[in-house]
Amino acid sequence: GRVIFSGIQPTGILHLGNYLGAISNWVKLQNEALPNDEILFTIVGWHALTLPQNPQQLSASRRDMLATLLAFGIDPKRSVVFYQEDNLCHVELSWILSCITPLGQLRRMTTWKSRLAAKRNANDESEVDESMLNAGLFTYPVLQAADILAYKATHVPVGEDQTQHVELTRDIADAFNRTFDPEKKFFPLPDVLITPNRRVRSLKDPSSKMSKSSPDSSSRIMLTDTFSQIDKKIRGAVTDSIQGITYDPVNRPGTSNLLSILSACEGVDVEEVARRYEGKGHGALKKDASEALEGLLKVPRAEFERLRLDQTYLNAVAKEGAAKAKERSQTTMERVRTMIGLY
Ligand code: ATP
Repeated sequence: GRVIFSGIQPTGILHLGNYLGAISNWVKLQNEALPNDEILFTIVGWHALTLPQNPQQLSASRRDMLATLLAFGIDPKRSVVFYQEDNLCHVELSWILSCITPLGQLRRMTTWKSRLAAKRNANDESEVDESMLNAGLFTYPVLQAADILAYKATHVPVGEDQTQHVELTRDIADAFNRTFDPEKKFFPLPDVLITPNRRVRSLKDPSSKMSKSSPDSSSRIMLTDTFSQIDKKIRGAVTDSIQGITYDPVNRPGTSNLLSILSACEGVDVEEVARRYEGKGHGALKKDASEALEGLLKVPRAEFERLRLDQTYLNAVAKEGAAKAKERSQTTMERVRTMIGLY
């Protein structure tokens, strides 16, 4: 069977892009998994520490993230759902792997390079200054490799921005195998699991993605938005002044974004949805998109609001998830310790 593993940062309340681009794919994978597939989803608190965090806020955000996963369809009976920081194996393995990972390979990560570039621009310096960034940001991909390898995961569903990290994980796994395993096959080399790429665009600037960090909150639909909030944001969405409705993401990104949101809500091909609106206007499309979103979000939104108040239940789920995660990584870690000579 496959071992499917993925993680998400504890960012609290998610937006529609996070749901359609990540969580809904996890739910689909879980629901379509074969009986002998193993599925693990983790909320990666240690990764979150690479950026400054307010401890109270972080603590609330991780609980909200767990409540979100459960409300939107992750089933703890079918998937192992846990907080990364509840299984110390991740940091132990991360340290071990960091000792066989060349610095040069980490410097080549585009995530690191873009962090450096951001610093450089912010300070208007021609020289890149690494001293402005913390070591955790640099070694982040090694921790990610440890997350994956601790469970000998074979398939990792991630967004495009993370595929380079999975490739690095393969290199690190291979380095470990060649260094410590006479048979050179201890860690399987994980594959990226390509999931349908549904990029949701900003409602205010359809040339960029819907994002939590945009200062304009009307550019994104939050999973907790009420119908009236959804409707207001969709009605205010930027489209174009071209007559009629067509699906043309290059020339009509705003209109196409609404079509693709509607198509995702209905589970119908976007071209087919577009044909229904050929002779209609943006008003009709927006009205239907709002209603379809309400249909998608209504039940899980209520479930989320119920779950986030039920700390006893959330703690019980997290505890059970952590126990299962530890059990699954235990044998691997004992073998690793033996292989490296620290057992
Ligand atoms: P940021 O504002 O920093 O971009 P974000 O919450 O918008 O944050 P990430 O934290 O980078 O996005 O992403 C979390 C997950 O959600 C990733 O799997 C990412 O691919 C997915 N995701 C984020 N935004 C979108 C989007 N607009 N459309 C589709 N998927 C998205």
